[in-house]
Amino acid sequence: MIKKREDVPFKDRWNVEALYSSESEWIKAFKSFVNLEQTPRWPALQKFQGTLQQGPENLKKVLESLLQIERELSKLHTYAHLRHDEEITNTKCKEMDEQILSAIYAYSQETSWFLPELMGLSNDLVKQYLSSPILKDYHFYIEKMLRVKPHTLSPENEKLMAFADQALQTAHKTFRAINDADFKFGTAKDSKGQEKPITHASYGMYIRDADRTLRETAFKQYHQQFDKYENTLCELLTGQLQSHVFNSKARHYKSCLDAALYPKNIDTSVYHALIKAVNERLEVLHKYMGLRKQILGVKDLHFYDTYVPLIEEMDIKMPYEEAEDLIIESVAPLGSEYQNLLKKGFKEQRWVDRYENENKRSGAYSSGCYDSMPYILMNYKNIIKDVFTLAHEAGHSMHSLYSHRSQPYQYGDYPIFLAEVASTFNEDLLMRLMLQRCQNPAEKIYLLNQKIEDIRGTLFRQTMFAEFELLIHEKAEQNIPLTPHLLKEEYRNLNKKYFGPTLVLDKEIDIEWARIPHFYYNFYVFQYATGISAALALAERVVQGGTRERDDYLNFLKSGSSKYPIEILKLAGIDMGSPEPVKAAIQKFDHLLDEMEQLLLENSAQKKK
Ligand SMILES: [Zn+2]
Repeated sequence: MIKKREDVPFKDRWNVEALYSSESEWIKAFKSFVNLEQTPRWPALQKFQGTLQQGPENLKKVLESLLQIERELSKLHTYAHLRHDEEITNTKCKEMDEQILSAIYAYSQETSWFLPELMGLSNDLVKQYLSSPILKDYHFYIEKMLRVKPHTLSPENEKLMAFADQALQTAHKTFRAINDADFKFGTAKDSKGQEKPITHASYGMYIRDADRTLRETAFKQYHQQFDKYENTLCELLTGQLQSHVFNSKARHYKSCLDAALYPKNIDTSVYHALIKAVNERLEVLHKYMGLRKQILGVKDLHFYDTYVPLIEEMDIKMPYEEAEDLIIESVAPLGSEYQNLLKKGFKEQRWVDRYENENKRSGAYSSGCYDSMPYILMNYKNIIKDVFTLAHEAGHSMHSLYSHRSQPYQYGDYPIFLAEVASTFNEDLLMRLMLQRCQNPAEKIYLLNQKIEDIRGTLFRQTMFAEFELLIHEKAEQNIPLTPHLLKEEYRNLNKKYFGPTLVLDKEIDIEWARIPHFYYNFYVFQYATGISAALALAERVVQGGTRERDDYLNFLKSGSSKYPIEILKLAGIDMGSPEPVKAAIQKFDHLLDEMEQLLLENSAQKKK
């Protein structure tokens, strides 16, 4: 029953025409902007090379020219990738997307001289630039680029680093090849003896399935595949760690962690504070495991019992329009301006591409650029999970909208460290409203369980990953050889510590590290944990507070990247250098657990009557 793209009614599509009225308009704009006949594509840029020392006016001119091209390219790219995702088999749109990507690549090649030249300016000149009123709109922009100057090497050595770069990506690329393509996981068996094929995606479903046999066989079979290759996977992870050690040492950082966080101006204490705060309250996670065991009524609680919903999947259906209305209502604590902007985006401007169609890209995202409205890709199927996804993406969109409206282009995009804050914030507001409204106890338990699982997966699990990541980096830095045995032992110990005494640790858990792609990302996952903590703290602050708290939050949304992320959060009232936001998030988790336990008790008492 899935529609073809051309049969999707206008009202259900996103408003791409607002960017370019048609494909031919896009092609016309592209051709007038990118001259495919000439190399370099933008000859004017070459003339700037070697002129950065000629004074603030000149630097301003160069920056403006670069940013103007970037801005135009990102507008062209937005249209092409949205159209491509609508129907990935549409060859015309695919070609447009490829064309613009190659133009972006050409742009980066043609401007690759810029950063080294900026870094090469004398300290006196830089000082002069950073105090020049002519460059006032660019002071922080320049400062950010120059932040890594103390860790930048001589031009000769930078060249060497660039040569090494591709070779250093081998470990990650090989992991992806083996994990995404080469590995075959065989089948799991459900309680009726039926064989079910395991893939990464189906594993994610089986581990949540009510059929315990299916969960168990899927868990074991899936991890045993990784276990068979423990030596290979250990070498790959070691290779990745060594590339981080190489970079950190060559650039004279104190540690791999420092090398990863320094460019974003995030102090390593934020990372350590997170781990410490979570470690201090692990007993609430242990409590949750005890509750799980009791409710599921199992003799032993295994890892494959930790994801299954504690109450049967609720069959709550919600049509799309109703979801929009509910989300608009849920953001009332942010004031009428916010509410009206979102309403207009949903109802009049058509931000959202609502439903699945043939060959549409799966999943959901929020996209757009400085010169466009936000665009949300959905594959809405009337289930509650999708309502939360829409609230999440709308949170991203509103963050972009506010930042774009309030900041000049160079500060228009928010930094990655803050990326999941506004989205999680909106999910939390929606959850609050739904819990408040909910009359049916079973439905309420279902919602509470979902929220508890969100916090467990994003705060506890990601912090455990962050802890493991730090531990293995430290071993690599100390030249301690990493063996499969050592990695398994450390990983098992962490699981024991996090899950507590209730969980029976099957041997398959020891190898889980070998399948986590994020361990190849270089200290990325902790941002999930800090993001959810900041979001929950901010939501609490706004809901409990008055105009001041609300305005602080709106100012956070308006900040874009005009300051460093920790500073932006501080202005909104959240100090990520302190353990407080993480502690508060865990406290909330604890309260939700109590609330759910109470309802479960009442619910079962009701049933017995
Ligand atoms: Zn998101």
